[in-house]
Amino acid sequence: MQLSEIRFLVVDDHDFQRSMLVRMLKRLGVVQIAEAADGAAALKVCDSTPIDIIICDLDMPGMDGMAFIRHVGESGINASMILSSALDRSLVASVGTMTRAYGIHLLGTIEKPTTPERLQELLGLYRVPTAHKVGVAASTFPLDEICAGLAAGQFEPFFQPKVDIASGQLKGVEALARWRHPGHGIIAPQSFIETLEGSGLIDELSWQMIEQSARWCREWRGAGLDISVSVNISLSSLNKASFADHIAGLVERQKLDPHHMILEVTESTAMTNVGQALENLARLRIKGFGLSIDDYGTGYSSMQQLTRVSFTELKIDQSFVTDAAANETCRVVLETSLDMAKKLRLCSVAEGVETEADWAMLQASSCNLAQGYLIGRPMEGKDLLGWVSSWKPSLGLTQALGQ
Ligand code: C2E
Ligand code: CA
Ligand code: CA
Repeated sequence: MQLSEIRFLVVDDHDFQRSMLVRMLKRLGVVQIAEAADGAAALKVCDSTPIDIIICDLDMPGMDGMAFIRHVGESGINASMILSSALDRSLVASVGTMTRAYGIHLLGTIEKPTTPERLQELLGLYRVPTAHKVGVAASTFPLDEICAGLAAGQFEPFFQPKVDIASGQLKGVEALARWRHPGHGIIAPQSFIETLEGSGLIDELSWQMIEQSARWCREWRGAGLDISVSVNISLSSLNKASFADHIAGLVERQKLDPHHMILEVTESTAMTNVGQALENLARLRIKGFGLSIDDYGTGYSSMQQLTRVSFTELKIDQSFVTDAAANETCRVVLETSLDMAKKLRLCSVAEGVETEADWAMLQASSCNLAQGYLIGRPMEGKDLLGWVSSWKPSLGLTQALGQ
């Protein structure tokens, strides 16, 4: 999408700051810019005109930035947000977390006074909201429609690359479930995972994902790619005694060595039968599967998990990675987690790598692998080989990678 097609709203009570931002946007090629001096005025603009990106100051008289963001989140205004502030970084980062918690797509934060480069970097992250976000909310898919989709084979894995940070080489892919809905197009997992988990029917999706992922991985390995495939497993599935054996059977049928499949688990309150879950996880490890602790650092994926399960990989939640370049607290948590992974001889993976600044920060750390939009978005299996031959040059990361 051209910058000239994107509709902006700049919210700042300070006339000089606001006009400076507007001038900067115009120089970058933006033409559609509305302005507001506080939250209430900004809401009026949003009511009367569609807006794609809001650049919002936080400290304003009248309705401040935080209240405005809450209103945007609650009213379902489908705009992405950039926070612009001169306040303390950890405070701005906290408002960033708040913004995401309201379901708003946060492009990032800028420190005043900002530079055209930083602004351009954040604008580059803008994506037109997907159909499922604008039209079909998660709850609108009833269980029987999801089950009919599963029975009709409408679910498939998309694959997101995981690359070695030191060499840039592809080391694996994560399979992320997508529903190719006949009426709504490609539907993301938020619209069906919870419903399936809540009804105890998530296993059927897991079987299909494992089977298709194993088939793709065997094919890529046959084509000369030395990679593994990671599949997400719901903890509720681990309560069933036959789970590990069933997975092993599926993978064997696809002729993939279990050493090339990693199962990602996130601890959750659903872990009711701890003994049974640990039995399944131990059995999977014995059979050769890799085990990854997903979303590490969030409430549920905790250090206690590490002491109970024989994990092989630690995936640091993207909230730490996304904010680490700008937020010292996040960076300290990230570095401490990476240190721990190293001492425990676990492969460390940083998720949510979106910018070159994230990438540079990780290069200076002990992190092993990186995954995120900067490297590649989740893609169809048939597109992976094409991605492999094109990714480094097109990203302009050759210098960062020392090539
Ligand atoms: P997850 O396992 O943490 O997967 C990573 C999510 O972050 C994916 O969203 C991915 O598309 C997104 N992502 C990747 N890179 C970036 C980035 O640079 N920036 C940002 N902002 N996001 C990035 P997706 O595909 O919507 O999946 C959401 C969640 O749904 C997954 O989170 C996982 O917990 C669950 N899920 C996906 N597939 C399955 C599945 O087959 N079975 C189960 N049980 N859960 C699944
Ligand atoms: Ca995952
Ligand atoms: Ca994750």
